[in-house]
Amino acid sequence: MRPQILNPLFAEAESLKGVGPQLARPMERLGLTRVKDFAYHLPDRFVERRPVENLDAASVGENIVVALTVREHRSSSGRGPYRVLAEDVLGNVCTLTFFGRASYTAKKLLPVGEKRWVAGRLDQYGQMLQIVHPDHVAEDGSALLEQLCEPVYPLSEGLTQGRLAGLIQQALEHLPELPEWIEPGLLDRMKWPAWRDALVLAHKGTHAQARDRLAYDELLANSLALMLVRDANRARTGSPLAGDGSLRSKLSLPFALTGAQRRTIGEIEGDMAQGAPMLRLLQGDVGSGKTVVALEAMLIAVEAGAQAALLAPTEILARQHHETLMRMAAGTGVEIALFTGRDKGKARESILMGLLDGSIDIVVGTHAIFQESVAYKNLAMVVIDEQHRFGVGQRLMLAQKGKRTPHCLAMTATPIPRTLTLAQYGEMDVSRLDEMPPGRQAIDTRVVSGERIGDVVGALARHLDGGGQAYWVCPMVRESENDDLAAAEARFAELKERFGDAVVLVHGQLKPELKDAAMERFVRGEAKLLVATTVIEVGVDVPDATLMIIEQAERFGLAQLHQLRGRVGRGADKSVCLLLRGDALSETARDRLALMRETQDGFRLAEEDLRLRGGGELLGTRQSGDTPFRIASLEQIQTLLPLAHDDARLLIERDGGLTGDRGEAARMLLYLFERDWGVQLLRGG
Ligand code: ADP
Ligand code: MG
Repeated sequence: MRPQILNPLFAEAESLKGVGPQLARPMERLGLTRVKDFAYHLPDRFVERRPVENLDAASVGENIVVALTVREHRSSSGRGPYRVLAEDVLGNVCTLTFFGRASYTAKKLLPVGEKRWVAGRLDQYGQMLQIVHPDHVAEDGSALLEQLCEPVYPLSEGLTQGRLAGLIQQALEHLPELPEWIEPGLLDRMKWPAWRDALVLAHKGTHAQARDRLAYDELLANSLALMLVRDANRARTGSPLAGDGSLRSKLSLPFALTGAQRRTIGEIEGDMAQGAPMLRLLQGDVGSGKTVVALEAMLIAVEAGAQAALLAPTEILARQHHETLMRMAAGTGVEIALFTGRDKGKARESILMGLLDGSIDIVVGTHAIFQESVAYKNLAMVVIDEQHRFGVGQRLMLAQKGKRTPHCLAMTATPIPRTLTLAQYGEMDVSRLDEMPPGRQAIDTRVVSGERIGDVVGALARHLDGGGQAYWVCPMVRESENDDLAAAEARFAELKERFGDAVVLVHGQLKPELKDAAMERFVRGEAKLLVATTVIEVGVDVPDATLMIIEQAERFGLAQLHQLRGRVGRGADKSVCLLLRGDALSETARDRLALMRETQDGFRLAEEDLRLRGGGELLGTRQSGDTPFRIASLEQIQTLLPLAHDDARLLIERDGGLTGDRGEAARMLLYLFERDWGVQLLRGG
């Protein structure tokens, strides 16, 4: 159970003063649902202001606090700004300018003849000094003069800086004092403040040590939790499986395995022969040949008299895998079934029977294969395709199926850098397919200005006329971005006007049946052009699709672009990928797109992506969802994660049950960062 001392932090946001239903949505959008979320909602940056006696003492462009006396209000006719003329003690005039609705507040806040304290950025407009939308206007200056360094928080519509800052302040007042979980030597060496001080400092000003400490806490919690999972797994009983090669030797593959495939299969075979269940991640770029590795691994289980299952994230992928496996294993006599949530009646019954009596050796399906009602005779091996769709929690659920924990092989086509692999899959052993099957064609990648979209559509028309298929991808950063969805739908409408019924649209908000139906038309070749948001990222194989067009490519991560590009280049014909870009690109964005042109090595792209983003565009990426962290930035992950990992290992080696003083503190940390599944795994925890 969560330690009581943490309860105030986990209290609902509504327990803060001044939080009503009107704030529920904006707060939810920012992930602020409990008191602790506010405390951890760290500023993007700070505004530093200088108090000045008069305007002569200030320079243009500077953020200042100054006392002004209001002289005159000038509202303009129509849509122009609302101006308030005010002067300092020397009689220098400054215009306070307001647009839109802010003019109403201006009228109230700045009565003519009165003195007011104003905080804001001093600008020049023609010959006039002006402050556009002052940050603060106050009758009494003391609060402004006391907080000359003001945090600027990430906002969402319906919340103002002032409002949010007030709520955060309240949350900070609720912070309990917690025992120290960081190793004292490290804390000293880094000159890191204690937890509560660090949180308070991080909201007060640029304080690198405080921010690093908070990031480290998060990284340590994650490393600890993953290591506890790993330990718990080692302590479980699995079934040692030794295959005799009798089925694998009957496989009729039209190719020889690559060195990387052979090495990986060897690693898997070694794991499966052990008493503890395998927990291995297979990382391999799109097209690196993971399927055949999965098949060999499952055949080891079947050779040893057990059953195996392959879990796919979507029905389409399950079906595709089923077909591929049937083809490759045709000569082996192995019984391979497909099972999805849609199977009903007799068909469903017969598969259920087959799984129960063991006549089915391998089952391929969606998460339906792990439903309560599905019982196996002897399931000893599970392959999870496209791992990133499943969280650690789901992985743990799998482990609970049956008396013995099945061996688990997780496969992902997302090449992520080594540090992030550690962060996300730290509990697993990792195999990398870092060698492509021979004869893969390079994909001709070009970066094209978005203004040339007319030419691009022309090229697309020629491609479709020639009988080819193509993808057109529109950006959708978050599933909830309505603007993006509208843009994708508009693009679809336009393309449909031009190319007719051969165009289908797929996006994240579409009902699964409709999505599947559209995808299937494309897979079968009835539809020629698939307009999509990033949902096609995962594993679909359509060899005739050899043209990929990606709009606003700069908005995608490199790894994502790489995944998308990997949808083409699967057949014998030469493939082309056109990256449409906006005009105002940052240097980093330019470099990233150039890199796409240069290389097709996913692991290299992933490392470079991290390097390019890790240094520069830090803040925007914090919540981009490609790391499991909320606090730690990419840069902090790179520098601090290895430390946290070692620290966690040492702690567990010394006190695996987390019962000593530091162990107790570490439990607290796990709860604080909601990695309590780590604690649950401790015996008696
Ligand atoms: P992944 O799932 O890793 O993206 P697949 O398993 O679908 O990749 O393999 C991609 C393609 O490469 C398939 O057509 C497969 O038959 C082929 N392939 C796999 N291994 C080899 C190999 N060693 N040599 C040649 N082709 C291979
Ligand atoms: Mg695959």
